[in-house]
Amino acid sequence: MCETPEELIGAVAHEVGHLKHNHINEQLIKSLGIELLFSGSNTSLGEVTQLLTQSAFSRENEIEADEYAINKLIELEISPNYLAKLFKKLYTETSMVPDFLNTHPGLNERISNFKKYEFKESNRKYEFDWVKVKNSL
Ligand SMILES: [Zn+2]
Repeated sequence: MCETPEELIGAVAHEVGHLKHNHINEQLIKSLGIELLFSGSNTSLGEVTQLLTQSAFSRENEIEADEYAINKLIELEISPNYLAKLFKKLYTETSMVPDFLNTHPGLNERISNFKKYEFKESNRKYEFDWVKVKNSL
């Protein structure tokens, strides 16, 4: 869904934010707990992987990861609004899903947290061909 390298950098920075704040560990414990409740101890690696990729982070975790990404983007002189732009696309695709089932909880509220940042078109030049990168995915 990323149309520019800046959006991808924002998305990666957000995910790194989850790692830096140890959300993955919390999430792992929560998901495994639920899985064990329903299936006894016969949890396969495939099931766990599926659970992990489908589970939603809490709204608080998402906001923390967003804050990490915002600071990282500012540090890189990229407008944080590139990430908001990506979130808007995600929101229009997933807004029909209730928050508790959504893998991106509180997305609309999170988008509004970006309003204080002025959108500035990036002047960065990358050493890779973005169109080529996108087409290779
Ligand atoms: Zn997230």
